[in-house]
Amino acid sequence: MYDLVIKGGMVVTSASPFPADIGINGETIAAIGQNLDGRQVLDATGKLVTPGAVDMHVHLQMPIGQFTSTDTFYSGTRAAAFGGTTTIVDFVETQPDETMAEAIAARRALADPNVVIDYGLHMTIGPGDMARLDQVPEAFAAGCTSFKLYMAYGLRLRDDELLKALTAVRNVSGIPVVHAENWDVITELIRQNLAAGRTSPHWHPRSRPALLEAEATGRVIDIASFVGVPLHIFHVSCGETVARIAQARQQGLPVTGETCPQYLCLTWDAYDAPGVDGTLPVCSPPIRDRTAQTALWQALSRNDLQIVTTDHCPFTYEEKATGLNNYSQIPGGVPSIEMRFAALYSQGVRQGWLSLSQWVAQCCTNPAKLMGLAKKGEITVGYDADLVIFDPDATKTLTPETLHETAGWTPYAGLTLQGWPQTTLSRGKIVVQDGEFVGGMGNGRFLHRTQANL
Ligand SMILES: [Zn+2]
Repeated sequence: MYDLVIKGGMVVTSASPFPADIGINGETIAAIGQNLDGRQVLDATGKLVTPGAVDMHVHLQMPIGQFTSTDTFYSGTRAAAFGGTTTIVDFVETQPDETMAEAIAARRALADPNVVIDYGLHMTIGPGDMARLDQVPEAFAAGCTSFKLYMAYGLRLRDDELLKALTAVRNVSGIPVVHAENWDVITELIRQNLAAGRTSPHWHPRSRPALLEAEATGRVIDIASFVGVPLHIFHVSCGETVARIAQARQQGLPVTGETCPQYLCLTWDAYDAPGVDGTLPVCSPPIRDRTAQTALWQALSRNDLQIVTTDHCPFTYEEKATGLNNYSQIPGGVPSIEMRFAALYSQGVRQGWLSLSQWVAQCCTNPAKLMGLAKKGEITVGYDADLVIFDPDATKTLTPETLHETAGWTPYAGLTLQGWPQTTLSRGKIVVQDGEFVGGMGNGRFLHRTQANL
């Protein structure tokens, strides 16, 4: 007799789908088998039972310039749970007068009382952190075993700084995660466009060429290879970048890559919407054309990319509008935290790009392994009972009203998905059931992560 049994569903792991019951004791998966009995039973007949999804790239209440991304640790993790995500990895940055350990403690003080699902933090290494690379072991020991390096924006590292940061991460057996774009070229193209009066969001993707995203990716792969450290490339937006990652992997280099729903479900036509609407989908790297979108689905299909995340980082309509007459000033980022897992089923599995197991591998298992989440991302005895009962026959039309994110808009408005989570469990406790939130603020835990294993 188990505490809870999920009965009669089709269990989908990263290896295969098979019919089975799942027995849960406390917070843990205790059995996978037939005819299991539980004090509480959830009927999953006709449903898929998957691991809770892992979104290893989100920005909740993140200060960027004068704005802060709109979802808090509460609203963001709650929306994630509605979409079947049970673990997120967010970010921490040091202030000039702070140590890495102090920054982690401060970020945890914001998150711990508010998260409804488990979470981890990437430690950001910016140019201001070059003088404190000796603190990287302390950050690793505090459970932040992945390190974010930017090749763009104010936090951008030059190649010599990348070399030093990658070496520091290698020395603790950490995993670097990189935003790869060629910032010098982007800066000059923006300058040229603005000088010529080309100020609308139409020019955003045209200032950030696919070829130069691929160039930066290839460059950081080469530096990481020279240093001898594994590497993960964030938010791949085009086939050119996929090719660099695939080539490195063929050479046996420990390089992985991810893409995000905005690159898989939208095209750059979205930037030509009139008025403020054209500013909303601004994110970086930019959303590109149909050819790029198809290349990304092919890459997931061939496992040339291994992970799907969201880069969830929304701003309000009013905040986006501040860049209406200068696209380079639009705060970048879109909301996807709730729709990712279902979108990859609907547009990926149902459209024939992905098998059920690839879907689970890319949204759950692979990110858990890369992030050193020892008991997440798979349905295995002894793992955390983070589980989703997914209704493949449910339909959901995405609108700001049907989602639980707080930006007040969604770039996917009107998109109808086939399949949606019915029930989400975090460590054996139901968080969302039949569209109702039954979890609690602060029920999520900070995850002390270990070494990457993908
Ligand atoms: Zn990001």
